[in-house]
This record gives sequence, C-alpha cells and structure tokens, in this order.
Amino acid sequence: MARRSSPSVDPAVLEEVRSIYDALTQRPSQRRCEARTTCCRFQLTGELPLVTRAEALYAAVGVRASGRKAVKPHPDGACPLLGKDGRCTIYAHRPFGCRTHFCTAAGGMYPRREVADLIQRLDALDEKIQGQGSRDLPDAIAVVLDGK
Ligand code: SF4
Repeated sequence: MARRSSPSVDPAVLEEVRSIYDALTQRPSQRRCEARTTCCRFQLTGELPLVTRAEALYAAVGVRASGRKAVKPHPDGACPLLGKDGRCTIYAHRPFGCRTHFCTAAGGMYPRREVADLIQRLDALDEKIQGQGSRDLPDAIAVVLDGK
C-alpha cells in the first residue's frame, strides 16, 4: 500500500507549539540536562512521554528535517527518535514532556504548578485542531508521519 502524503499543517498550529516551548524556557526551574538520555530509554524508565497531535506535528517537522519520512522502533526499546550516537535526533523539536520530565540526576520533573498554564495551552490547541488527547510519543509521531 502506498504511504500517504504529508498532511498540510496550519503554520499557526506549529507557531503556537513553538511559542509554548519558548515560554517554557522562561520558567524559573533550573535543570541540568546534559543529554544523559536516561528519560529517552523507555525500557529502563517504564515511562513514555505523552504527546498531543499538535506537538506530534511539530516533532514531525524535526523528523523530516533530518531526512526521514518514518521512524523505526529502537532496537533496545528506547525512544525511536534516539539516534545511534545516543542523542535526540529532533532535539529542537522534542515534545513538552521531554522538556519537563528530567531524570533525578538532572534535577527531577518540573512541578506541574509551574507549567500548568502551558499544559492548558497545549490542551486548548489539541481541542482546536480536534486532536484526541495525548498519545504515547512513538504512536503520536507515527500517526502524523503516516499522514493520518
Ligand atoms: S524525542 Fe528526543 S528527547 Fe524525547 S524521548 Fe525521544 S530521543 Fe528523548
């Protein structure tokens, strides 16, 4: 079966996601993420970031910018976007969960109260584009890359 072509994405949706991520960088929490990638190794943490459709569309921009049209499961069960060099292949486009769920060594997860308004903006955007709530990261990105 032929792969579907990329859906056209309203630039305003991508801009709102970027704006939310930019706002997050202004928050006071100090973290020391040094690309440890512990949080990217789902097989170790047992946790997957949850991603809204708008965020998945934004992440897909990063995937396509890296020259890929699809992502394959990681052989170790880690995030499919973790590169062979052990670094995130879409770092500038990584989802909100990846920007707020730090490992203990990096200072721990952001307190929800510090980012609740940004989560509300993501939820409002999801509602606006008739997303269906958050999905786990691999599924959310696979769906949009598949043109659905
Ligand atoms: S998208 Fe990047 S930062 Fe987020 S879990 Fe995957 S590899 Fe890690």
